[in-house]
Amino acid sequence: MMKGDRCEFCEGEMRQRCVLARFRYKGLTIYIENVPAWVCNKCGEQSFDAPVYKRLERIAQQSEHIQKSISFPLAEFDMAVP
Ligand SMILES: [Zn+2]
Repeated sequence: MMKGDRCEFCEGEMRQRCVLARFRYKGLTIYIENVPAWVCNKCGEQSFDAPVYKRLERIAQQSEHIQKSISFPLAEFDMAVP
């Protein structure tokens, strides 16, 4: 991926940023912080350079050693009182 490349999905502009990368590996989704990625300014599609992708794979392979896990707020739909 080069500067000025276009998103393969929506033709948006790809910009290099450090992101919280979402990476799927063997049916598992892991999140990795501060990953240099190309991000589409329209649809948010993430794309990684080959060496970065290789490192993400290495991290995913060692995912049983991941110490930190994050949780997301989960609200109940009927919590809102009319
Ligand atoms: Zn896009």
